[in-house]
Amino acid sequence: MTVRIGITGAAGRMGRALAETICQREESCQLAAAVERPESSLLGADIGELLGVGSSGTEVKPDLAAVIQGLDVLIDFTVPEATLSHAQVCALHGVPMVVGTTGFTAAQTADLHAITHDIALCQSANFSPGVNLALRLTEAAARALGDSADIEVVEAHHRHKIDAPSGTALALGDAVASARGRALSEIAVYAREGRTGAREPGSIGFSVIRAGDIVGDHTVIFAGEGERLEITHKASSRAAFASGAVTAACWLVGQPAGRYSMQNVLASEEVGP
Ligand code: NAD
Repeated sequence: MTVRIGITGAAGRMGRALAETICQREESCQLAAAVERPESSLLGADIGELLGVGSSGTEVKPDLAAVIQGLDVLIDFTVPEATLSHAQVCALHGVPMVVGTTGFTAAQTADLHAITHDIALCQSANFSPGVNLALRLTEAAARALGDSADIEVVEAHHRHKIDAPSGTALALGDAVASARGRALSEIAVYAREGRTGAREPGSIGFSVIRAGDIVGDHTVIFAGEGERLEITHKASSRAAFASGAVTAACWLVGQPAGRYSMQNVLASEEVGP
């Protein structure tokens, strides 16, 4: 079966990487729709021409509702407000949805889950297999080291990123917090300035760098007396995120309604970095 995939945010950095990946996997999937903001100057453009790979026959359209019926699954990497509106269209038509957008508030996350209650939703702050392995390694290290290590998360991204800390940094923090049996919101420290006092034992500090064209670097530091362990992941292109999201989309078609993450996809497909 050829899986018919739609992309919202098709002209964005991730949208283009997704379109390229889908075109490269023509034996298993097809780019059936490419959707952008109604104000986008790229509406009507052929997505293949945009990618510089020649005509694909798929034009960038302004309205998901007009194309949803031709889709087996939607992949959304946009902004939280747009993702929520796309989720409503998917839910209305029973189309499963892969969400890579980050930066949701707690209320927006609750809305997304309520809207998609009756469809299959695969949501991950990071779809790269390497980062998903880093999440498992981080949780294992946090369990093994217990309270003996101070744990900090450092992330770096390109100058255009609009949310901070990154969704991946928060997911790494969540992995540490759950290994310690705590909620991240209780122990996260997002800013330090001036006379902060000594480090709060058991807290998780976050540091954020925004510069140039950095695709995405994440390091979890476990610092004890006289030694330090670091788990680092560096993305050198968006290909790993796009490849993971397309794998997740193909996997999601036919799954029962429910909430999934890239960890579920990797566990069932045994995909490695
Ligand atoms: P981007 O700004 O390059 O692209 C976003 C696109 O969404 C833009 O082209 C914009 O015009 C489009 N858009 C906005 N509103 C829309 C609407 N209503 N309808 C259709 N399109 C709309 O951003 P990006 O770097 O591609 O990142 C997008 C999101 O994906 C961010 O939240 C980012 O943090 C996240 N991200 C997630 C992963 C992951 O693996 N989960 C990896 C990279 C980026």
